[in-house]
Amino acid sequence: MNETALTVHQTARPHGFPTVEHFAFVESALPAPVAGSALVENLYWSVDPYHREMMDDVPGGFALGTPLEGRSIGRVIASRTPRLAEGDVVMHRQGWRTHAVVGPENVRQLPRFDGVPLTAFLSTLGGTGLTAYVGLTRIARLQEGEDLFVSAAAGGVGTATGRFARLLHAGRLVGSAGSMAKAAHLVREVGFDVAFDYHDGPVADLLGKAAPGGIDVFVDNVGGEQLSAAVGALREFGRIVRIGTISQYNIPDAPSPRFDYADIVEKSIRMEGFLVSNYRDVQEELYEFAVPRLQSGRLALDETLVDGFEHIVDAFLGMLRGENTGKIIVRDRTQVPPAN
Ligand code: NAP
Repeated sequence: MNETALTVHQTARPHGFPTVEHFAFVESALPAPVAGSALVENLYWSVDPYHREMMDDVPGGFALGTPLEGRSIGRVIASRTPRLAEGDVVMHRQGWRTHAVVGPENVRQLPRFDGVPLTAFLSTLGGTGLTAYVGLTRIARLQEGEDLFVSAAAGGVGTATGRFARLLHAGRLVGSAGSMAKAAHLVREVGFDVAFDYHDGPVADLLGKAAPGGIDVFVDNVGGEQLSAAVGALREFGRIVRIGTISQYNIPDAPSPRFDYADIVEKSIRMEGFLVSNYRDVQEELYEFAVPRLQSGRLALDETLVDGFEHIVDAFLGMLRGENTGKIIVRDRTQVPPAN
Protein backbone atom coordinates (compact mmCIF):
# COMPACT_ATOMS: atom_id res chain seq x y z
CA MET A 1 0.00 0.00 0.00
CA ASN A 2 1.24 3.55 -0.83
CA GLU A 3 2.07 5.53 2.31
CA THR A 4 1.25 8.86 0.70
CA ALA A 5 -1.74 10.22 -1.17
CA LEU A 6 -1.96 12.74 -4.01
CA THR A 7 -4.75 15.22 -4.57
CA VAL A 8 -5.25 17.75 -7.36
CA HIS A 9 -6.09 21.33 -6.42
CA GLN A 10 -7.09 24.25 -8.58
CA THR A 11 -4.66 27.11 -7.91
CA ALA A 12 -6.14 29.99 -9.97
CA ARG A 13 -9.20 30.89 -12.05
CA PRO A 14 -8.64 30.66 -15.81
CA HIS A 15 -9.76 33.38 -18.20
CA GLY A 16 -10.31 31.38 -21.33
CA PHE A 17 -8.67 28.02 -21.88
CA PRO A 18 -7.15 26.51 -18.69
CA THR A 19 -3.55 25.26 -18.59
CA VAL A 20 -1.53 23.01 -16.30
CA GLU A 21 -0.58 26.21 -14.41
CA HIS A 22 -4.11 26.31 -12.99
CA PHE A 23 -3.60 23.01 -11.14
CA ALA A 24 -1.25 21.55 -8.53
CA PHE A 25 -0.63 17.99 -7.37
CA VAL A 26 -0.42 18.01 -3.56
CA GLU A 27 1.13 15.15 -1.60
CA SER A 28 0.02 14.25 1.91
CA ALA A 29 0.12 11.35 4.33
CA LEU A 30 -2.33 8.58 3.54
CA PRO A 31 -5.62 9.58 5.22
CA ALA A 32 -6.92 7.25 7.93
CA PRO A 33 -10.62 6.32 8.07
CA VAL A 34 -12.37 7.55 11.20
CA ALA A 35 -15.09 5.48 12.87
CA GLY A 36 -18.01 5.00 10.44
CA SER A 37 -15.94 5.57 7.29
CA ALA A 38 -13.63 3.67 4.96
CA LEU A 39 -10.48 4.40 2.99
CA VAL A 40 -10.82 3.93 -0.76
CA GLU A 41 -7.96 3.62 -3.23
CA ASN A 42 -9.22 5.15 -6.44
CA LEU A 43 -8.82 3.10 -9.62
CA TYR A 44 -10.67 5.10 -12.33
CA TRP A 45 -11.43 8.79 -12.60
CA SER A 46 -13.85 10.70 -14.79
CA VAL A 47 -12.82 14.14 -16.05
CA ASP A 48 -15.75 16.06 -17.49
CA PRO A 49 -16.64 19.25 -19.34
CA TYR A 50 -18.62 20.45 -16.31
CA HIS A 51 -15.36 20.57 -14.36
CA ARG A 52 -14.37 23.43 -16.67
CA GLU A 53 -17.54 25.27 -15.68
CA MET A 54 -16.72 24.62 -12.00
CA MET A 55 -13.27 26.18 -12.42
CA ASP A 56 -14.96 29.58 -12.76
CA ASP A 57 -16.03 31.67 -9.80
CA VAL A 58 -19.60 30.35 -9.85
CA PRO A 59 -21.96 29.14 -7.11
CA GLY A 60 -21.04 25.52 -6.35
CA GLY A 61 -17.77 25.88 -8.27
CA PHE A 62 -14.39 24.51 -7.19
CA ALA A 63 -12.81 26.28 -4.22
CA LEU A 64 -9.16 27.20 -4.81
CA GLY A 65 -6.53 25.26 -2.89
CA THR A 66 -8.71 22.33 -1.89
CA PRO A 67 -9.00 18.85 -3.45
CA LEU A 68 -11.20 18.83 -6.55
CA GLU A 69 -14.24 16.59 -6.82
CA GLY A 70 -15.43 14.32 -9.56
CA ARG A 71 -16.74 10.84 -10.16
CA SER A 72 -14.36 8.02 -9.34
CA ILE A 73 -14.41 4.25 -8.91
CA GLY A 74 -12.24 2.79 -6.20
CA ARG A 75 -11.65 -0.17 -3.93
CA VAL A 76 -12.03 -0.13 -0.16
CA ILE A 77 -8.62 -0.83 1.39
CA ALA A 78 -9.43 -0.17 5.05
CA SER A 79 -12.77 0.05 6.75
CA ARG A 80 -14.15 1.19 10.08
CA THR A 81 -17.78 0.64 9.15
CA PRO A 82 -19.64 -2.68 8.89
CA ARG A 83 -21.38 -1.32 5.78
CA LEU A 84 -18.21 -1.33 3.69
CA ALA A 85 -15.80 -4.23 3.54
CA GLU A 86 -12.21 -4.32 2.35
CA GLY A 87 -12.27 -5.18 -1.34
CA ASP A 88 -15.66 -3.58 -2.06
CA VAL A 89 -15.68 -1.62 -5.32
CA VAL A 90 -17.58 1.63 -5.04
CA MET A 91 -18.46 4.73 -7.03
CA HIS A 92 -18.21 8.08 -5.27
CA ARG A 93 -17.60 11.76 -5.98
CA GLN A 94 -14.18 12.29 -4.38
CA GLY A 95 -12.23 12.05 -7.59
CA TRP A 96 -9.07 13.95 -8.62
CA ARG A 97 -7.20 12.17 -5.78
CA THR A 98 -5.53 8.83 -5.29
CA HIS A 99 -7.34 8.04 -2.02
CA ALA A 100 -10.60 9.12 -0.43
CA VAL A 101 -12.17 8.67 2.99
CA VAL A 102 -15.84 7.93 2.36
CA GLY A 103 -18.94 7.26 4.39
CA PRO A 104 -21.26 4.45 3.26
CA GLU A 105 -24.00 7.03 2.60
CA ASN A 106 -21.77 8.79 0.04
CA VAL A 107 -20.89 5.79 -2.13
CA ARG A 108 -22.74 3.51 -4.49
CA GLN A 109 -21.89 -0.18 -4.52
CA LEU A 110 -21.60 -1.10 -8.17
CA PRO A 111 -23.45 -4.10 -9.56
CA ARG A 112 -21.25 -6.46 -11.57
CA PHE A 113 -22.41 -7.65 -14.98
CA ASP A 114 -20.56 -10.55 -16.61
CA GLY A 115 -18.25 -9.38 -19.36
CA VAL A 116 -18.83 -5.67 -18.68
CA PRO A 117 -15.72 -3.80 -17.49
CA LEU A 118 -15.79 -1.39 -14.57
CA THR A 119 -15.04 1.56 -16.88
CA ALA A 120 -18.56 1.17 -18.31
CA PHE A 121 -19.89 2.65 -15.05
CA LEU A 122 -18.18 5.92 -16.01
CA SER A 123 -19.09 5.71 -19.71
CA THR A 124 -22.08 3.94 -21.26
CA LEU A 125 -23.67 2.78 -17.99
CA GLY A 126 -22.71 5.91 -16.03
CA GLY A 127 -23.73 9.56 -16.17
CA THR A 128 -22.49 9.82 -19.76
CA GLY A 129 -24.71 7.03 -21.08
CA LEU A 130 -27.58 8.10 -18.86
CA THR A 131 -27.41 11.59 -20.36
CA ALA A 132 -27.62 10.14 -23.87
CA TYR A 133 -30.45 7.77 -22.92
CA VAL A 134 -32.53 10.44 -21.14
CA GLY A 135 -31.92 12.86 -24.01
CA LEU A 136 -33.33 10.40 -26.52
CA THR A 137 -36.11 8.75 -24.55
CA ARG A 138 -37.35 11.46 -22.16
CA ILE A 139 -36.52 14.76 -23.85
CA ALA A 140 -36.60 14.03 -27.61
CA ARG A 141 -39.06 11.16 -27.14
CA LEU A 142 -37.50 9.69 -30.26
CA GLN A 143 -39.82 7.83 -32.63
CA GLU A 144 -38.73 5.03 -34.96
CA GLY A 145 -37.42 6.33 -38.27
CA GLU A 146 -36.76 9.89 -37.08
CA ASP A 147 -33.62 11.60 -38.37
CA LEU A 148 -31.10 12.97 -35.88
CA PHE A 149 -28.21 15.39 -35.83
CA VAL A 150 -25.75 15.05 -32.91
CA SER A 151 -23.02 17.62 -32.13
CA ALA A 152 -19.75 16.58 -30.42
CA ALA A 153 -20.83 13.21 -31.77
CA ALA A 154 -17.43 11.58 -31.24
CA GLY A 155 -17.35 12.38 -27.51
CA GLY A 156 -18.74 10.38 -24.60
CA VAL A 157 -22.35 11.57 -24.72
CA GLY A 158 -22.22 11.86 -28.53
CA THR A 159 -21.10 8.28 -29.23
CA ALA A 160 -23.56 6.87 -26.69
CA THR A 161 -26.32 8.93 -28.33
CA GLY A 162 -25.44 7.58 -31.76
CA ARG A 163 -25.29 3.95 -30.63
CA PHE A 164 -28.49 4.16 -28.55
CA ALA A 165 -30.33 5.98 -31.36
CA ARG A 166 -29.40 3.18 -33.76
CA LEU A 167 -30.69 0.56 -31.31
CA LEU A 168 -33.89 2.61 -30.88
CA HIS A 169 -34.40 2.42 -34.66
CA ALA A 170 -33.70 6.05 -35.51
CA GLY A 171 -33.62 6.99 -39.20
CA ARG A 172 -30.66 8.89 -40.64
CA LEU A 173 -27.93 9.70 -38.11
CA VAL A 174 -25.78 12.75 -38.79
CA GLY A 175 -22.85 13.68 -36.55
CA SER A 176 -20.38 16.53 -36.29
CA ALA A 177 -16.91 16.33 -34.76
CA GLY A 178 -13.64 18.22 -34.67
CA SER A 179 -11.63 16.30 -37.27
CA MET A 180 -12.05 14.25 -40.42
CA ALA A 181 -10.56 11.26 -38.60
CA LYS A 182 -13.30 11.48 -35.97
CA ALA A 183 -15.97 11.93 -38.64
CA ALA A 184 -14.71 8.81 -40.43
CA HIS A 185 -14.68 6.90 -37.14
CA LEU A 186 -18.31 7.86 -36.49
CA VAL A 187 -19.42 6.34 -39.77
CA ARG A 188 -17.11 3.33 -39.74
CA GLU A 189 -17.41 2.30 -36.09
CA VAL A 190 -20.29 4.02 -34.30
CA GLY A 191 -23.11 3.65 -36.80
CA PHE A 192 -23.64 7.21 -38.06
CA ASP A 193 -24.76 7.48 -41.68
CA VAL A 194 -22.78 10.61 -42.34
CA ALA A 195 -20.50 12.88 -40.32
CA PHE A 196 -18.58 16.07 -40.94
CA ASP A 197 -15.79 18.14 -39.43
CA TYR A 198 -17.42 21.34 -38.18
CA HIS A 199 -14.24 23.30 -39.05
CA ASP A 200 -14.77 22.62 -42.76
CA GLY A 201 -17.02 25.62 -43.48
CA PRO A 202 -20.24 27.26 -42.28
CA VAL A 203 -22.06 24.58 -40.27
CA ALA A 204 -25.38 25.44 -41.93
CA ASP A 205 -23.84 24.46 -45.30
CA LEU A 206 -22.21 21.32 -43.92
CA LEU A 207 -25.43 20.23 -42.23
CA GLY A 208 -27.45 21.09 -45.34
CA LYS A 209 -25.27 18.73 -47.37
CA ALA A 210 -25.29 15.99 -44.72
CA ALA A 211 -29.07 16.14 -44.16
CA PRO A 212 -30.58 17.60 -47.32
CA GLY A 213 -34.09 16.53 -46.26
CA GLY A 214 -33.78 18.07 -42.79
CA ILE A 215 -33.78 16.54 -39.32
CA ASP A 216 -36.37 15.72 -36.66
CA VAL A 217 -34.15 15.88 -33.58
CA PHE A 218 -30.98 17.78 -32.69
CA VAL A 219 -29.01 16.44 -29.72
CA ASP A 220 -26.83 19.40 -28.84
CA ASN A 221 -23.66 19.05 -26.79
CA VAL A 222 -22.04 22.17 -28.18
CA GLY A 223 -24.31 25.20 -28.69
CA GLY A 224 -23.12 28.19 -30.75
CA GLU A 225 -23.07 27.95 -34.53
CA GLN A 226 -24.17 24.31 -34.52
CA LEU A 227 -27.33 25.20 -32.62
CA SER A 228 -28.08 28.04 -35.05
CA ALA A 229 -27.62 25.72 -38.02
CA ALA A 230 -29.82 23.01 -36.52
CA VAL A 231 -32.77 25.37 -35.98
CA GLY A 232 -32.71 26.01 -39.72
CA ALA A 233 -32.51 22.30 -40.56
CA LEU A 234 -35.26 21.08 -38.21
CA ARG A 235 -38.55 19.93 -39.69
CA GLU A 236 -42.00 20.68 -38.32
CA PHE A 237 -42.42 19.33 -34.75
CA GLY A 238 -38.64 19.11 -34.44
CA ARG A 239 -37.00 18.84 -31.01
CA ILE A 240 -33.75 20.32 -29.74
CA VAL A 241 -32.28 18.42 -26.80
CA ARG A 242 -29.96 20.89 -25.05
CA ILE A 243 -27.32 18.86 -23.25
CA GLY A 244 -24.29 21.12 -23.13
CA THR A 245 -22.60 24.21 -24.49
CA ILE A 246 -18.95 23.20 -24.71
CA SER A 247 -18.18 25.65 -27.52
CA GLN A 248 -18.64 28.44 -24.97
CA TYR A 249 -17.01 27.08 -21.78
CA ASN A 250 -13.57 28.53 -22.60
CA ILE A 251 -14.77 31.85 -24.02
CA PRO A 252 -15.57 34.44 -21.34
CA ASP A 253 -18.83 36.28 -22.16
CA ALA A 254 -19.40 34.18 -25.28
CA PRO A 255 -22.27 35.60 -27.35
CA SER A 256 -25.44 33.55 -27.46
CA PRO A 257 -26.13 31.81 -30.77
CA ARG A 258 -28.25 33.68 -33.33
CA PHE A 259 -31.07 31.93 -35.10
CA ASP A 260 -34.45 32.75 -36.53
CA TYR A 261 -36.82 32.77 -33.54
CA ALA A 262 -39.79 32.70 -35.92
CA ASP A 263 -38.65 29.20 -36.95
CA ILE A 264 -39.41 27.97 -33.43
CA VAL A 265 -43.05 29.01 -33.85
CA GLU A 266 -43.59 28.27 -37.51
CA LYS A 267 -42.05 24.78 -37.30
CA SER A 268 -43.51 24.07 -33.82
CA ILE A 269 -40.04 23.30 -32.49
CA ARG A 270 -39.56 22.30 -28.88
CA MET A 271 -36.24 23.11 -27.21
CA GLU A 272 -35.64 21.48 -23.82
CA GLY A 273 -32.57 21.28 -21.64
CA PHE A 274 -31.99 18.96 -18.71
CA LEU A 275 -29.50 17.93 -16.07
CA VAL A 276 -28.87 14.22 -15.81
CA SER A 277 -28.75 14.54 -12.01
CA ASN A 278 -32.55 14.99 -12.12
CA TYR A 279 -33.03 11.64 -13.88
CA ARG A 280 -31.33 9.16 -11.52
CA ASP A 281 -34.59 7.17 -11.48
CA VAL A 282 -33.86 6.13 -15.10
CA GLN A 283 -30.61 4.37 -14.12
CA GLU A 284 -32.13 0.88 -13.75
CA GLU A 285 -33.90 1.24 -17.10
CA LEU A 286 -30.57 2.15 -18.70
CA TYR A 287 -29.03 -1.03 -17.26
CA GLU A 288 -31.95 -3.08 -18.64
CA PHE A 289 -31.53 -1.46 -22.05
CA ALA A 290 -27.74 -1.45 -22.31
CA VAL A 291 -26.34 -4.38 -20.33
CA PRO A 292 -27.78 -7.28 -22.40
CA ARG A 293 -26.72 -5.47 -25.57
CA LEU A 294 -23.19 -4.92 -24.24
CA GLN A 295 -23.04 -8.58 -23.29
CA SER A 296 -24.27 -9.75 -26.70
CA GLY A 297 -21.95 -7.38 -28.58
CA ARG A 298 -24.77 -5.34 -30.17
CA LEU A 299 -23.55 -2.33 -28.19
CA ALA A 300 -19.89 -1.36 -27.77
CA LEU A 301 -18.15 0.97 -25.32
CA ASP A 302 -16.48 4.12 -26.64
CA GLU A 303 -13.71 5.10 -24.28
CA THR A 304 -10.33 6.83 -24.33
CA LEU A 305 -8.30 5.44 -21.42
CA VAL A 306 -5.42 7.52 -20.08
CA ASP A 307 -2.99 5.56 -17.90
CA GLY A 308 -1.66 7.01 -14.67
CA PHE A 309 -3.18 9.39 -12.13
CA GLU A 310 -0.29 11.80 -12.81
CA HIS A 311 -1.86 12.44 -16.23
CA ILE A 312 -5.30 13.43 -14.93
CA VAL A 313 -4.82 17.16 -15.61
CA ASP A 314 -3.45 16.45 -19.10
CA ALA A 315 -6.43 14.18 -19.76
CA PHE A 316 -8.87 16.89 -18.70
CA LEU A 317 -7.20 19.56 -20.85
CA GLY A 318 -6.91 17.12 -23.75
CA MET A 319 -10.64 16.38 -23.54
CA LEU A 320 -11.40 20.11 -23.76
CA ARG A 321 -9.18 20.23 -26.87
CA GLY A 322 -10.98 17.26 -28.40
CA GLU A 323 -8.22 14.66 -28.00
CA ASN A 324 -10.67 12.00 -26.82
CA THR A 325 -12.93 9.69 -28.74
CA GLY A 326 -15.77 8.42 -26.58
CA LYS A 327 -15.70 8.96 -22.81
CA ILE A 328 -12.32 9.95 -21.43
CA ILE A 329 -11.35 7.96 -18.32
CA VAL A 330 -8.13 8.04 -16.34
CA ARG A 331 -6.98 4.63 -15.13
CA ASP A 332 -4.66 3.74 -12.28
CA ARG A 333 -1.62 1.87 -13.53
CA THR A 334 -2.61 -1.21 -11.49
CA GLN A 335 -5.67 -1.54 -13.76
CA VAL A 336 -3.70 -1.62 -17.00
CA PRO A 337 -3.91 -5.16 -18.41
CA PRO A 338 -0.47 -6.74 -18.81
CA ALA A 339 0.95 -6.63 -22.34
CA ASN A 340 0.82 -9.97 -24.16
P1 NAP B 1 -16.98 14.77 -24.64
O1 NAP B 1 -17.94 15.06 -25.73
O2 NAP B 1 -16.48 13.38 -24.48
O3 NAP B 1 -15.71 15.72 -24.72
C1 NAP B 1 -15.83 17.04 -25.07
C2 NAP B 1 -15.76 17.20 -26.60
O4 NAP B 1 -16.22 18.49 -26.94
C3 NAP B 1 -14.34 17.15 -27.13
O5 NAP B 1 -13.93 15.82 -27.39
C4 NAP B 1 -14.43 18.00 -28.40
O6 NAP B 1 -14.64 17.14 -29.52
C5 NAP B 1 -15.70 18.83 -28.20
N1 NAP B 1 -15.40 20.26 -28.24
C6 NAP B 1 -14.49 20.94 -27.53
N2 NAP B 1 -14.52 22.25 -27.87
C7 NAP B 1 -15.47 22.37 -28.82
C8 NAP B 1 -15.96 23.47 -29.60
N3 NAP B 1 -15.49 24.72 -29.42
N4 NAP B 1 -16.91 23.23 -30.51
C9 NAP B 1 -17.41 21.99 -30.70
N5 NAP B 1 -16.99 20.91 -30.00
C10 NAP B 1 -16.02 21.11 -29.07
O7 NAP B 1 -17.66 15.25 -23.29
P2 NAP B 1 -19.01 14.69 -22.66
O8 NAP B 1 -18.74 14.37 -21.25
O9 NAP B 1 -19.57 13.65 -23.54
O10 NAP B 1 -19.93 15.99 -22.68
C11 NAP B 1 -20.48 16.47 -23.89
C12 NAP B 1 -21.39 17.64 -23.59
O11 NAP B 1 -22.47 17.21 -22.77
C13 NAP B 1 -20.72 18.79 -22.84
O12 NAP B 1 -21.26 20.01 -23.30
C14 NAP B 1 -21.14 18.56 -21.40
O13 NAP B 1 -21.11 19.73 -20.64
C15 NAP B 1 -22.53 18.01 -21.60
N6 NAP B 1 -23.07 17.16 -20.54
C16 NAP B 1 -24.26 17.54 -20.00
C17 NAP B 1 -24.88 16.74 -19.08
C18 NAP B 1 -26.23 17.15 -18.53
O14 NAP B 1 -26.64 16.65 -17.49
N7 NAP B 1 -26.94 18.03 -19.22
C19 NAP B 1 -24.27 15.55 -18.65
C20 NAP B 1 -23.05 15.17 -19.23
C21 NAP B 1 -22.46 16.00 -20.18
P3 NAP B 1 -14.34 17.61 -31.03
O15 NAP B 1 -13.03 17.00 -31.39
O16 NAP B 1 -15.48 17.03 -31.77
O17 NAP B 1 -14.30 19.10 -31.04
